[in-house]
Amino acid sequence: MALNRYDVIVIGAGFAGLSAAVRLTRQGARVLVVEARARLGGRATAFPDRDTGELVDNGQHVLLGCYTDTFEFLREIGAAGNVRVQGQLGVTMIDRAGRRSRLVCPTLPAPLHLLAGVLEWEALGWNDRLSVLHMARPLRLALQQARDEARLRERVGRGSREPGARKIAASPGETVESWLIRNGQTARIREMLWDPLALAALNQPAAQAAAPVFARVLAEMFGGDPRAAAIGLPTKPLHLMYAEPAREYIERGGGTVRTGTPAKVRIDRHKLDAVEAVGERWTAGAVVSAVPWFAVPDLFDGDFSTLAEMLTHARLMTSCPIVTVNLWFDRQVIDEPFVGLPGRAMQWLFDCARGPRGGDASHVSLVSSGASPIVHLLNHELIATAHEELLETLPAVRAARIVRATVVREPRATFSLAPGQPERPPTETPVQGLYLAGDWIDTGLPATIESAVRSGHLAANMAFENLGI
Ligand SMILES: Cc1cc2nc3c(=O)[nH]c(=O)nc-3n(C[C@H](O)[C@H](O)[C@H](O)COP(=O)(O)OP(=O)(O)OC[C@H]3O[C@@H](n4cnc5c(N)ncnc54)[C@H](O)[C@@H]3O)c2cc1C
Repeated sequence: MALNRYDVIVIGAGFAGLSAAVRLTRQGARVLVVEARARLGGRATAFPDRDTGELVDNGQHVLLGCYTDTFEFLREIGAAGNVRVQGQLGVTMIDRAGRRSRLVCPTLPAPLHLLAGVLEWEALGWNDRLSVLHMARPLRLALQQARDEARLRERVGRGSREPGARKIAASPGETVESWLIRNGQTARIREMLWDPLALAALNQPAAQAAAPVFARVLAEMFGGDPRAAAIGLPTKPLHLMYAEPAREYIERGGGTVRTGTPAKVRIDRHKLDAVEAVGERWTAGAVVSAVPWFAVPDLFDGDFSTLAEMLTHARLMTSCPIVTVNLWFDRQVIDEPFVGLPGRAMQWLFDCARGPRGGDASHVSLVSSGASPIVHLLNHELIATAHEELLETLPAVRAARIVRATVVREPRATFSLAPGQPERPPTETPVQGLYLAGDWIDTGLPATIESAVRSGHLAANMAFENLGI
C-alpha cells in the first residue's frame, strides 16, 4: 500500500539527495525520494546514445582520493568497486607544442610527494620546478584554515558565519591567478599544473575563480594522505555506478524512490506542511531539499517568506558550462585512460574503455571545462575543434577515421566561484525540519561530487536529529 507519511522526504536524486537518503535509511528512518526526471543521477548521469544504444555519460566525471564522504557513501551501497583509483597521483600531459611528459607523485608523506613529483617533472624548466617550493607555506596555511573551520563548524554548528581561521591562505577578493603569481608561481608551471587543476576542480579559469576555494581544494588534495590526490575513474556509466545501487539500498531499507515526480514543498505559517507532486501529497517529520541552485526558487508553495534571502542568493548565482565532445574512431588512438591537454579548448581526453563498441572502434571523450567561450558554437564546429586538437597532440589520430561524433552541453554544470558571488546557504533553514543539500550548499568545496555528498550527509544527520527517534 502506498504510504503518505514518511520520516523524511528527500527531493532530488543526484549525489546529494541519494547520499542523504542512504544515510537516513542506515539510521533507520523511512525515506521517500522524489526525483523530477525519469532517470536518477541529476548532473552525474548517463543516457543511451540515440544511434548505438551505448550508455554515454553526460560528461566524464573524475573522483579524487580526498573524496572521503563519497567513498564512504559508495562503500555503504556496495559500489566502491565501481571506481578505479590510482595508487598515487600520476598524469600524462601533452603541452601545446605536442611534448608528452608525466607528472608522478612518489610515495612520500604529503606534501613532499607533490614537491618531489614536480621537481622531477621534465615538462618544466628548473626555475619553474623550484617555484613550487613557494607553495609550501600557502598550502600549510590552507590546511590549517580547513582544520580550524571544521573544528568551528563542529563547535558552533549550523550556518555560523564567524571567521573560521586566524590566518587565511587566500583572500576572498583575489583570483586563483593573482594568488598563484603572488606566491611566486611561474607562467609555465601555472599553464602546465595549476591552471588545468583549477579548471578541472572549479570549472572556471584561474583568472576568474576566487582563490580561497582553490586553496581549500589543494589542502584536501595535498595536505594529508598522500593518496588524496590520486585520480579515480568510474568503471560503469554514471547512474549505474552509484545511483541505481543507492536506489536498491534505500528500497531494501523500506524506503521508496519515485522518478518522474517534480515536487513542491508547501510551507504553511512558516512551518513545513507537505510535499506535493502530480496530484499526490505526502507529509514527513523532515524534508531535505537536494535540488540545485537553479531549481530551488521554484520548489516552494504557500508562505515561504522566511526563505527569501536564500532564494534571492540562489537566483543570483551564475552558472558555468561544461562541453563534452565524444568521438568514435575506427581504431584505438590513445594508450592511456586519460591525458591532460593544457592550454587547449578541450583540456582533458578520456578513453571510454567500456560499453558495447562496434568492431575495433575506439570511443574517446574530450572535455572542455569553463566552457563559456565555446558553449555557443555549433556541434560541427565543436567536433572540428576537438578533432584538430587531437590531430595536433596524438599522432595515432592522423591515421584514424572518425566513425561517429556527438556533443553534450551542460550549460548549468556548476556555479561560479568568482569573487563577489552570493554567499552559499548553510544546511539549516529558518523553517524547522527543512534542510538544504546539494553541491552549492556552503561546504567550502567547489561544485563537485564530494561537496554534494558532504552536504547530503550533513543534511541527513540534522534531519535525523530533528526527528528525535
Ligand atoms: C558535465 C559535468 C562534468 C562534471 N565533472 C565532475 C567531476 O569530474 N568531478 C566532480 O566531482 N564533479 C563533477 N561535476 C559536478 C557534479 O556532477 C555535481 O557537483 C554533482 O553531481 C551535483 O549533485 P547534486 O545532487 O548536488 O545535484 P544534481 O545532480 O543536480 O541533482 C539534483 C536533482 O534534483 C532534481 N530536481 C530538481 N528540481 C526538482 C523538483 N522540484 N522535484 C524533484 N526533483 C527535482 C534534478 O532533476 C536532479 O536530479 C560535473 C558536472 C557536470 C555537469
